[in-house]
Amino acid sequence: MTTEQEQQTYLPPALRPKFAKLGVHHLRDLLLHLPMRYEDQTRVRAISELVAGESVVVEGVVEHSETTFRPRRQFVALVRAADDDGGNNFAPRLTLRYFNFYPNITQALKPGALVRVFGDVRDGRYGLEMVHPVFKKADAEVPLGSAGEVSGSAARLTPVYPSAAGVPQAAIRTLVAKARKIADWQQDLLPRAFTEALALPAWRVALDVLHVPSNTEPVMPLETRTHPAWRRIKFDELLAQQLALRDAKSLRSEEAAPKLHPTGLITTLLRQRLPFKLTAPQERALSEALRDMQQAAPMTRLLQGDVGSGKTVVAALAALVAVEAGWQVAFMAPTELLAEQHFNKLSHWLAELPIKLTWLTGSLPAAEMRAAHAACKRGEANIVIGTHALFQKKVSFARLGLVVVDEQHRFGVEQRLQLRQRGQRSTPSPLEGEENLTLTPIVAPHTLMMSATPIPRSLAMSYYADLDVSVIDELPGGRQPIATKLVSEARRGEIVRRIYEAAQQGAQAYWVCPLIEESEKLAEQDVQLQDATALHADLVALMPNVKVKLLHGRMNADEKAAIMKDFTANRIQILVATTVIEVGVDVPNASWMVIEHAERFGLAQLHQLRGRVGRGSVASTCILIFAGKLSDTAKQRLKVIYENTDGFIIAREDLRIRGPGELLGPRQSGLPSLRYANIEEDIDLVEAARDAATKLESDATFNRAAFVDRWIKHRAEFAKA
Ligand code: ADP
Ligand code: MG
Repeated sequence: MTTEQEQQTYLPPALRPKFAKLGVHHLRDLLLHLPMRYEDQTRVRAISELVAGESVVVEGVVEHSETTFRPRRQFVALVRAADDDGGNNFAPRLTLRYFNFYPNITQALKPGALVRVFGDVRDGRYGLEMVHPVFKKADAEVPLGSAGEVSGSAARLTPVYPSAAGVPQAAIRTLVAKARKIADWQQDLLPRAFTEALALPAWRVALDVLHVPSNTEPVMPLETRTHPAWRRIKFDELLAQQLALRDAKSLRSEEAAPKLHPTGLITTLLRQRLPFKLTAPQERALSEALRDMQQAAPMTRLLQGDVGSGKTVVAALAALVAVEAGWQVAFMAPTELLAEQHFNKLSHWLAELPIKLTWLTGSLPAAEMRAAHAACKRGEANIVIGTHALFQKKVSFARLGLVVVDEQHRFGVEQRLQLRQRGQRSTPSPLEGEENLTLTPIVAPHTLMMSATPIPRSLAMSYYADLDVSVIDELPGGRQPIATKLVSEARRGEIVRRIYEAAQQGAQAYWVCPLIEESEKLAEQDVQLQDATALHADLVALMPNVKVKLLHGRMNADEKAAIMKDFTANRIQILVATTVIEVGVDVPNASWMVIEHAERFGLAQLHQLRGRVGRGSVASTCILIFAGKLSDTAKQRLKVIYENTDGFIIAREDLRIRGPGELLGPRQSGLPSLRYANIEEDIDLVEAARDAATKLESDATFNRAAFVDRWIKHRAEFAKA
């Protein structure tokens, strides 16, 4: 297409901002702006049952009509139901409004005329109205739509498109029709033999069916999106996603990474010091990572395992392999608390071994920060543990060989991008100072990500197509199951007594609140939130001889670390905390978890929080306190968490309740989310798309870029948003 032709295909400027809200930036996008439902024009609706926002056919008698000039020249007709004698002034009426009109309209809409009109119902100043409805006389005995006299509504099924305020259906329909005239855009980019084998229609056929269904098309398969035309659309969307993810992966595989060969020197020592043996899935995950790390292309591996499955030790062993091979490791956690815990754990495991661990977070005093930066830059720090402060521009590494990211789903896209860029600049540029001129080749580090957000297989296949995944699907032995109890707030007294008893016998408990203090309360909510500060004060008063401490995100890092240390050593029995302890925290002796306002937490959060207990050999209990009247989804969530402990099942239920977008959080926001395909329902198409992506890999005639572009062209804009 020439630039000139291209220009003619822009959207009308006045509508652009409104269309942008619908994700439509270009006329071409309208082809894939598909109807959400269809109006059957042969189904006549009674005036009394009209609702604003619907496109309907209405039959009635014109009660009154006139041309008025206020606020501007227009022709208005008031229509009442045909069986209404007009005696009741309060019976519903429909106003028809025309701003452009010709004598044929004023003639046809004379008082007493029986008419059928078709249009969008909206709220007007004097009740419901239609602006510029299509009409015809109803007494003509011709089924509406069949004669073609009513322009634009000759079809029985009229598509209803997703719309926004100020974008009338008619405008969308007109522009869709325009887009459908541009041949380039209707071209099928997949080999026909290919789609035929999958019983899918050609691209153009699919678009035609969805935008202008023929008069014989049954409406059900269109509305339930099971029609082959819909399947073709969904298949293409899933295929584009697979291809885009594979592209990202192959781009990465072109980067050079150091080959990290294990020598066994340090890892053997660590294994000897561990108080346990690795489980079979831990060993398997480790060897998968080590195999990748010996390749010249960077590893991008996700280590997935339920809460408490023992991911940290696998990452620690992989880190030591990188150190053995003479490279540095950056070990990143989403919170200071968690980073600190990893630091303590690794320090403990590696005590007396010749490994330099460096601590780096944003809250370090300036002098220590400088020292930490220098240790990274000179290559003295073997393993640097910290928060995302690790990946700020100022930090450079002499020989970064491996990046470990714990709880990767907690990091935003931006932080992950930064991380990748850090890797690519692992050699300090000469501009940064003369002492950096030691020449090591520019390399990308290997990346090992960890996540306890277990996602269903179908979802993994789709969203993690650019990652290699290792799964730890078994918890270390000797664990006791966690008993979960749902308790109403009214019974708090009993809970306090129970925990007090346990604490006096040396047990430890977390007591989690959703907020820190009164001032944080969301004004519009009248639910009385039990806040951590007040609860702490209460428990201190109620529990003599037991140490109760408060931990929340507003405390400074040293305070937090000191409290965590005391809790780990059982110098504190009850830790009243906010969700700072949600992920990663590991104190095996803690066996009680009390969660206030459990109804306010998401499923993944509840699962993570509960996973803080049940880590040692003592039996653990999780008490979920709920308050107030529960919403339906809150009830569903609590039921799921009460009935299940397996993270995979919980994730599947979460997916069912919330949909994939929310479940994956930031992980997927770098990618456009799926508009039409539904990962769970269309699992057969996900599989077909994955196979197709592999087959098309070697098909030289396939215009891959154009295909992906059709679906993902606004990726850059999405990412910026
Ligand atoms: P997560 O996978 O949730 O990050 P962690 O790595 O924190 O789990 O491990 C949870 C607990 O299990 C830790 O106390 C850890 O030391 C312990 N652990 C890890 N592997 C094993 C094992 N093979 N046998 C026994 N305990 C283990
Ligand atoms: Mg962990």
